[in-house]
Amino acid sequence: MSDNTIFVEGQTGLWEIVIGLEVHAQVSSKSKLFSGSSASFGADPNTQVAFLDAGLPGTLPVLNTFCVDQAIKTGLGIHGNIQKYSAFDRKNYFYADLPLGYQISQFYHPIVLGGYITIDLENGEEKKIGVQRIHLEQDAGKSIHDIHPSETYIDLNRAGVALMEIVSEPEIHSSSQAQSYVKKLRTLLRYLQTCDGNMEEGSLRVDANVSLHRPGTPFGTRAEIKNLNSVKFLGQAIDFEVARQLKILESGGTVDQETRLFDPGKGETRTMRSKEDAHDYRYFPDPDLKPLVLEQERIDAIIKSMPELPDEKKKRLIEQYGLSAYDADIIVSERDISTFYETAVNTLSVDLQNNQGPKILANWLISELFGALNKNSLTLDSSPISAEQLSNLVTLILTDVISGKIAKDVFLQMWETGQEAAVIVEEKGLKQISDPSIIENAVDSILSSNSDKVVAYKGGKEQLFGFFVGTVLKHFQGKANPALVNQILEKKLKN
Ligand code: ADP
Ligand code: MG
Repeated sequence: MSDNTIFVEGQTGLWEIVIGLEVHAQVSSKSKLFSGSSASFGADPNTQVAFLDAGLPGTLPVLNTFCVDQAIKTGLGIHGNIQKYSAFDRKNYFYADLPLGYQISQFYHPIVLGGYITIDLENGEEKKIGVQRIHLEQDAGKSIHDIHPSETYIDLNRAGVALMEIVSEPEIHSSSQAQSYVKKLRTLLRYLQTCDGNMEEGSLRVDANVSLHRPGTPFGTRAEIKNLNSVKFLGQAIDFEVARQLKILESGGTVDQETRLFDPGKGETRTMRSKEDAHDYRYFPDPDLKPLVLEQERIDAIIKSMPELPDEKKKRLIEQYGLSAYDADIIVSERDISTFYETAVNTLSVDLQNNQGPKILANWLISELFGALNKNSLTLDSSPISAEQLSNLVTLILTDVISGKIAKDVFLQMWETGQEAAVIVEEKGLKQISDPSIIENAVDSILSSNSDKVVAYKGGKEQLFGFFVGTVLKHFQGKANPALVNQILEKKLKN
């Protein structure tokens, strides 16, 4: 489904797709939202459970101020309004992995209101997707159904871990827009280091609300697909859901307001439970916690500590270095990629920085280095070639010490040996030959031993020019400056 397909066409006319996303992002923090136990992933079951997390009587929540700062940072990152007054409420429901019998959340007064995420549409335009709110809440524990055939096991390590729930406006109109939104949000969270964005480990989970309506009429009834843990599944679940609802509506039926689950194996969504409304949870202010009141100084200090955001960085890279939007997107997609890239650019001499250097560097990073990393299943932080080393290689190309072709061989040797480009070039004698008189001598002898072809060329067989270039380059084992070879051949053959 393309970005611009915001309508689906049925037998009876057009329907508009309406999507709102609720993203649960686990706050990067050493300890939980209201207890001191560790929030790290992957520990043995029930080894990170404070009395509070287990719902023991007589325990009281103590707010983790670091988690609050993380939510403020995230709110600033989406250009939202940080609320100086917010408060915690109890969301009451019974579940085996929720020993307290309620989840502490922020229902009436969330910490962030408003804001937006900018997504790129396929037609090259940008679209701002509004964010309604971000609130802080506790995660629940985990019920494990697949250890024993008839028993359910409970792991409370996750109980009480801080989540940010980031709720979008219903302004998303296709599965690919929804995917772009989540990718952009994930990149932002990782830049801010407020959530690691690891969808496989469940640090980022998406609920998708999907409905259809006739353009210009009120919204239709939505179904909510819970706990999507990959961008791919998000797209598949929405596409399935749109088709399912279309069929119901086209045949005159009504969509039930319900919570559904996506089955990745079947590519289908199925009913989990009928949708509860807010009043079902009996929300009320948590009497154990004071309202959260923020001083402006605290917000200002966080504003000061904010890194350059990916959207701003992308604009700057395009303006400052003349990068294409495509290259800039790749470079800003992860903070460590952009750091690597900018370290490499800053290693170039000022002269080269102001010239083609940054663009050529982007090419080498994206095609050569990423190519080699992918091939070897490595990530950038374990790259055998450092930013400085890549930059030095590019410097050799830009200053005509080696040709681009030789540089690829040098790159491979750098990859294998970890040596500096200049050392390899020196030791292997790979320096480009840029002395016109040496090239001229070789050209002369090649032309005289191919005099038949010279005659043919002069008689109009112009494609032979390529043969001459190739022969000269081969003579120098690829080390002759190709531009100079061309120039000299032209001079000799055209006179
Ligand atoms: P909850 O799902 O917890 O009851 P809300 O009613 O506030 O919370 O809605 C949550 C999400 O559903 C928001 O992202 C909102 O944009 C989206 N949403 C609301 N109405 C619709 C609709 N008719 N179709 C699609 N999404 C919707
Ligand atoms: Mg919901």
